[in-house]
Amino acid sequence: MVEGHCLCGSVRIEVGAHRPETSACHCGLCRRWTGAAQWGFEAEAGEVRVAGEVRTYRAVPFAERAFCPACGTHLWLRDDDGPYEFVPALFDAARAYPLVREVYADRAFACVTLSGDHPRISRADYERDNPHVEGDTP
Ligand SMILES: [Zn+2]
Ligand SMILES: [Zn+2]
Repeated sequence: MVEGHCLCGSVRIEVGAHRPETSACHCGLCRRWTGAAQWGFEAEAGEVRVAGEVRTYRAVPFAERAFCPACGTHLWLRDDDGPYEFVPALFDAARAYPLVREVYADRAFACVTLSGDHPRISRADYERDNPHVEGDTP
């Protein structure tokens, strides 16, 4: 089990079984929401406990993005009925989680170059197999 919290501490999260690895997304929505790229590690809903007030925003009809209404810290991205994709930095334990894939890799800002031999999945390849927003902005 790992424990995490937002910047102000109002939101506390406990996550049980999960794969200790992260992915990164450079799609237009994630870039705008985070500042440059979204990182996440996945956990099934049954493994998650959240305490404290959380607000969510739906940028698309099939997913929510959650944040702390007091301090604004981003908490997770979650497709409806999908696993949570938690912001790694909430959890001190996630410091050691390796990056295992990048999606929308061909859309990354020049200031975000991630090292390693992980798969780099293009927008076209990702959108062939996953829900997405048509016309993702440049
Ligand atoms: Zn907070
Ligand atoms: Zn994204």
